[in-house]
Amino acid sequence: MATAHSMQTQLFINGQYVDSKSGETWKVTNPATDELITDKVQTAGEADIDAAVDAATKAFKDPSWRGIKASDRGRMLLKFADLIEAKAGEIARLETLAMGAPLSVQTFVANTAAETFRYYAGWADKIAGEQYPDDDGTYKIVRYEPIGVCAGIGAWNASLVLFSWKVAPALAAGNTCVFKTSEKSPLGVLSLGTLINEAGFPPGVINLVTGDGKTGQLLAQHMKIQKISFTGSATTGRKVADAANKSNMKRCTLELGGKSPAIVFEDADMENALNYCSQGFLLLSGQVCAAASRTYVQRSIADKFIAQLKERFDAAGQGMGADTLAPTTMLGPMADKIQFDRVMSYIESGKKEASLVTGGNRIGEKGNFIAPTIFKDPSENAKIYKEEIFGPVGIVKTFENEEEAIRLANDTTYGLSATLYTQSVTRALRVSAALESGTVSVNSSHSPKVQTPFGGVKQSGVGRELGKQGLMNYLEIKTIHINMAVG
Ligand code: NAD
Repeated sequence: MATAHSMQTQLFINGQYVDSKSGETWKVTNPATDELITDKVQTAGEADIDAAVDAATKAFKDPSWRGIKASDRGRMLLKFADLIEAKAGEIARLETLAMGAPLSVQTFVANTAAETFRYYAGWADKIAGEQYPDDDGTYKIVRYEPIGVCAGIGAWNASLVLFSWKVAPALAAGNTCVFKTSEKSPLGVLSLGTLINEAGFPPGVINLVTGDGKTGQLLAQHMKIQKISFTGSATTGRKVADAANKSNMKRCTLELGGKSPAIVFEDADMENALNYCSQGFLLLSGQVCAAASRTYVQRSIADKFIAQLKERFDAAGQGMGADTLAPTTMLGPMADKIQFDRVMSYIESGKKEASLVTGGNRIGEKGNFIAPTIFKDPSENAKIYKEEIFGPVGIVKTFENEEEAIRLANDTTYGLSATLYTQSVTRALRVSAALESGTVSVNSSHSPKVQTPFGGVKQSGVGRELGKQGLMNYLEIKTIHINMAVG
């Protein structure tokens, strides 16, 4: 297994680490220290993607994968889960060095990925079909079959988790995969090749590539890929869906961005709501798709709530800039200079559009740290209020009653994960039903759970990952009719 000093930077195709045919390489810099980690990450070009897809196509038909018992697929997934868990610390370290989220957070991410593989291992031999009676002379069967070669493209904020959300259900269903990590966080996933072989997957069943948008585009438009699952921004998601349609109409799942609301009612447990609206929101320094970045507080408690929220944001900021490899560090920098500049430009426009409660500045002189920031009362058309910032920048607004809270929460083009805080069960159920969101969490910030589907409505995405629904995305439906009058 690679360590920080001997990291794996080649592509993993057909069960082997190989140099990219493109000859292009990519540089990874530690966003906490500005130090160069490696300038040797191999970028996959067209010939590399073709090689990976060919390997996956061959593996899909090969008896060593297609011909084995479903429970044997499950066994491989279970072993892979154990191997990831055993190396979680080392994998996490590679991710921390590349994209800055603290080691503690990345270790959790790697363990969550292992849990996803373990969950889908259990599904491998439980994919049943359906049958309907021959009451009209035709016996009817519905079969669920693997689709073929599936591609996954990940964002950088939790690479290992995104890898597992796409690859684990695809393999449980009997498909083969090509996964592209984000160019901002390639190292953890690229290190998995050795574990893939050790788990017993035949060559070509899982292929790992990296590269930027050009590499992603090659996957989205590839004629021999039958399904693509993409996690990233809504802007890129649109391009992926276009390329998927224009090429071979491959199946497409899109897990996109959000501008999720948190509604705090006056009857909420204040301490709990404050914890989730501060530490919960600031996880990964706000670089979480499900982060509730718009907080609506009922007017009767607003002054007290906002004052205490400010205290918590300020306290969290005290820990920023600490060594991201130290086990106790909780908050890291923006993933790279591009993301840092993007968030800072939102902060600058926020200073003209809203009132700054706290933060709004860089922390330290090296690395990409940004102070936890709160803006209050932006206009309803303000850029910081409408667009996803993907950084430690929260917006607070007040509301008078439940009706207004729901209107404000739903006034967005996104719909990924709403949260609400109340001690009334009936209000929780009523408001949950009224919110336009793929997920709703009551009395905590949203944390995806492997058993339940995760995904967005409106421009937060198409389709769902996780749970049984996440598995069904990787199965094609075949209907068979048998005329019972013959034979
Ligand atoms: P991004 O859209 O810039 O990139 C995502 C991935 O797409 C990267 O691997 C990138 O190389 C690739 N890519 C870029 N252009 C492409 C193209 N034309 N065709 C195919 N692939 C292309 O997003 P990002 O900055 O990496 O990630 C942040 C975004 O991801 C945020 O919007 C966040 O909300 C979202 N996200 C969503 C979820 C979810 O589950 N809904 C989870 C994590 C992150």
